[in-house]
Amino acid sequence: MTQLGARAVVLGGSMGGVLAARVLAESYAEVVVVERDRVLGVSTPRRGAPHTVHAHGLHARGHLILEELFPDLTEELRAAGVPTGDLGEMRWFFNGRRIQPAHTGLVSVTAPRPVLENHVRNRVAAITNVTLIEECDVLGLVATADHEQIVGVRVRRRTDPAEAEVIDADLVVDATGRGSRTPAWLDELGFQRPEEERVKVGLAYTTRHYRIRPEMFDGVQSINPVASPAHPRGAFFGQVAPDVCILSLTGLLGDYPPTDPDAFLEFVRSLPVADVYEAVRDAEALDEAVSFRFPASVRRRYDRLLRFPGRLLVVGDAFCSFNPVYGQGMSVAAIQAMTLRSHLRLGRPPEPHRFFADLSRVVDTPWDISAGGDLDFPGVEGRRNLKVRIGNAYMARLQYAATKDPEVTNGFMRVAGLMDPPQALMRPSMVRRVLRHAIRRPGPGPSWRDTTPAPAVE
Ligand SMILES: Cc1cc2nc3c(=O)[nH]c(=O)nc-3n(C[C@H](O)[C@H](O)[C@H](O)COP(=O)(O)OP(=O)(O)OC[C@H]3O[C@@H](n4cnc5c(N)ncnc54)[C@H](O)[C@@H]3O)c2cc1C
Repeated sequence: MTQLGARAVVLGGSMGGVLAARVLAESYAEVVVVERDRVLGVSTPRRGAPHTVHAHGLHARGHLILEELFPDLTEELRAAGVPTGDLGEMRWFFNGRRIQPAHTGLVSVTAPRPVLENHVRNRVAAITNVTLIEECDVLGLVATADHEQIVGVRVRRRTDPAEAEVIDADLVVDATGRGSRTPAWLDELGFQRPEEERVKVGLAYTTRHYRIRPEMFDGVQSINPVASPAHPRGAFFGQVAPDVCILSLTGLLGDYPPTDPDAFLEFVRSLPVADVYEAVRDAEALDEAVSFRFPASVRRRYDRLLRFPGRLLVVGDAFCSFNPVYGQGMSVAAIQAMTLRSHLRLGRPPEPHRFFADLSRVVDTPWDISAGGDLDFPGVEGRRNLKVRIGNAYMARLQYAATKDPEVTNGFMRVAGLMDPPQALMRPSMVRRVLRHAIRRPGPGPSWRDTTPAPAVE
């Protein structure tokens, strides 16, 4: 492949960063990844990525891309004890009702996020022209005198905090996540900051791990009562290792799941279905609960900037960070890496405006799914245009129809897994299946506490 430059520098060594490094290594003589944490061989949550303690599902599309970039990764993960299964065969609840299980052929990998990241990072670190500099803070960009081109980054190693140094670069890729400082750096260089689209969700995840008991999952890989407007409390409860499972509770609009053990269990009991409570009420907890707040989904419109310095790109959560309950971020980062690869394969250094235009197209659908879905919750602020209103009204019917018809589950999982575009759900054969079961928007499924005497919290 054409060599496009001597050195590309990637800022941030989490999923977005290492996936970008993987494809850049095909086109640059050297790729340097700068990461503030110690990460090599680390398969536990770390300071720079506190969200990684919480449940992370990998969508089918992300899984396929990872397998393409890292052949036999799935087998490697399985051998390391990571459970895998069929996405449609998990126990999913929408609006308080269980949807029909369906064999989709889409692989679900439920690795703890730091474990998945560690396997992927090890593969990237093993590429001969990739260097990972750990415990090193990125301080800023270095530009030409006219500020038109980025030519390096200023960094400070934590091992040598007195000295800042410059790493020269032919291309800089910012993958430092939601807290990315590129908007501020653009400002300093005399460029405009990107506009930000925000959907405030006031979300929090609170997570604990438990020792698995055989009866907990009854043959399924995970049990997921997903939040809906009528039942806004949700949970992801899944096996992550042969004897360990994770329970992440989700609460919206300031209804944060508590960390206190009794209050945590009370929140579990308030879920619309009994399954998770029955499984954990007397289970052995392996850690204290930890919480992470996610105030808003943020899409930075780099694609709309008229002026932007050359030799600088932005990817991953730094470009767009989605409400995590839709489980899209890692898969979108993987799709973005493939977009970067296609730009590199043009045989010239990526041009930021064209790259951002393509990245924006990548982000459009997952953003519509996440931001549009959030607007179904009456308390979430934002404009509900016709597309959003029709989309949410149809999705409520479709999820109800999936409680009756596994073919609907299959179609739904393919779209949620970013395999098919949402338009696939509007095909006449699918619309017929949906309307057969739900001509009107269905009301909420009853909560189990309305029909069962509440067991005492122990
Ligand atoms: C609670 C929660 C649950 C989620 N669940 C899912 C899920 O189920 N499925 C899914 O696909 N996605 C999920 N996501 C999203 C997913 O975590 C991200 O999309 C994914 O991590 C990609 O992020 P990134 O690599 O772009 O950024 P990050 O993961 O935020 O990584 C940024 C990296 O940059 C480093 N860094 C930052 N600043 C500097 C600096 N100045 N110098 C050096 N290094 C720096 C950090 O240490 C970190 O390693 C979830 C997110 C949250 C918050």
